[in-house]
Amino acid sequence: MNTNPQTLTWVDNSIRELKDQGLFTTIRTLSSPQGAWLVVDGRDVLNFCSNNYLGLANDKRIVKAARKAMKHYGVGPAAVRTIAGTMDLHIELESRLAAFKEAEAAILFQSGFTANIATIPALVGRDDAIFSDALNHASIIDGCRLSRAKIIAYAHNDPDNLREQLVAHRDTFDKALIVTDGVFSMDGDIAPLPALQALAEEFGCMFMVDDAHGEGVMGQGGRGIVHHYGLQGKVDVEIGTMSKAFGVVGGYVAGNAAIVAWLRQRGRPFLFSSAMTVPDTAACLEAVNILEESTELVDRLWDNARYFKAEMQRLGFDTGQSVTPITPVMLGDEKLTQMFSRRLFEEGVFGTAIAFPTVALGKARIRVMISAAHSRSDLDRGLEIFGNVGRELGVLA
Ligand SMILES: *Cc1c(COP(=O)(O)O)cnc(C)c1O
Repeated sequence: MNTNPQTLTWVDNSIRELKDQGLFTTIRTLSSPQGAWLVVDGRDVLNFCSNNYLGLANDKRIVKAARKAMKHYGVGPAAVRTIAGTMDLHIELESRLAAFKEAEAAILFQSGFTANIATIPALVGRDDAIFSDALNHASIIDGCRLSRAKIIAYAHNDPDNLREQLVAHRDTFDKALIVTDGVFSMDGDIAPLPALQALAEEFGCMFMVDDAHGEGVMGQGGRGIVHHYGLQGKVDVEIGTMSKAFGVVGGYVAGNAAIVAWLRQRGRPFLFSSAMTVPDTAACLEAVNILEESTELVDRLWDNARYFKAEMQRLGFDTGQSVTPITPVMLGDEKLTQMFSRRLFEEGVFGTAIAFPTVALGKARIRVMISAAHSRSDLDRGLEIFGNVGRELGVLA
C-alpha cells in the first residue's frame, strides 16, 4: 500500500452521502437467463426491469445461431475492425441492418454507448454547434462533450424552443448537429421527429436520432422511430443498439452512406477498440431474421403494454406521459421509491427504483419494462402486488 489513506477518505464520505440521500444503487445478481421470471439473489421473481422487450435474450433460435457461428469462427475478433477484426459476419450484419432500417448503409460498434461517443466527435468539432434535447441519454451527452463543439440544449421535445435557439445561434457556427433520443427511456415519451427534421433542413444542420428504445418496438415490425414517422432517408444518423429489443449486445449507426464511410475512417472506437465478438454478431443476425420474418413478438409486446398500463391507471397509479411499453410508475420521493422497490421485491416482483442522477431530484419512479415474454397471468400477478404495496405505503387510497 503506497496510497496515503487520507487521499481516499472522500470516497467513503461520498458513498455515505449517497446512502443518506437514498441515492445509493444496490446491484442485484441474477443467476438465471433473462425472461419473464428471474432468479435474483436466490429468489424467483417476476421481472419488470429488463430491456428484453421481445424476449429474445434467451431465444432458442438465437442461442443456436451463436453456437453455430462459434463452431466456424471461434469467439474473439482479436483485432480492431481496421486491422484484422472485420469478418464477413460483420459485413453481413451491417448490410442486413441497413436493409431492415431502410437506410443507405450501416456500421457496427461495440455498443450503443460507443456508437454515440464515436459518431458525434466525428461529425462536429471546435467551430461547430450541437443542439441537444435537454433530456438526452448520457451517452449522447458524453459524445457531445468529447467533440468539443458548443453544446446548446433546447427544452425537452420542444421544436419552438429549438427554433429560437437556432435563430439565436446557428449563424455563429460552421457546422451544426441536431441530436435527440427517439424514445426517452425514463418517461417513454417520443421525440417530435418530423418537426425537428424540418428545422434541421431549414437551418442547414445534420440530424441524428438515437433509436435505442425504438428498435424492435416502434414502427412497422419494430423498424424503429424513424420508420414510425415515415422519415426513412431523411435522418442522417440513426444510432441503434442491439442490447435491448434484440436481446444481445452491440451498437450501430444506420443512415447516410457518406457519413457511414466517414465513420469507418474517423470513428475512434471503431479504430481503437476491438470488433463485436463472433457469437454476438451471429446472434444479432438471427435477431434481424426473426424480426423480418414476423411481427408476432412486436404485436404481443404492444398488447401486453396496453393492458398493463390501462390496469395500473385503473388502480390509481400515475404512469406519466409514456406512449411506449415503458411504464414509469411515478412516486416522486427518492426514499419512498426505494422502499416501494424493496417491498415489491419481498413480494416477488423485481422493479428497480430509478432516481437522481438518472432522473431529476423529486421525480423518482419504479420503471416497469413490459416484454412480449410476459404472459397475461404474469401481468395480473404484477398488478395485484403493485396494488397491495401501493395501499400499504399510502400511494393508493
Ligand atoms: C441504452 C441506451 C444506450 C446504450 O446502449 P448500449 O448498447 O447498452 O450501450 C444509448 N442510448 C440510449 C438512448 C439508450 O437508452
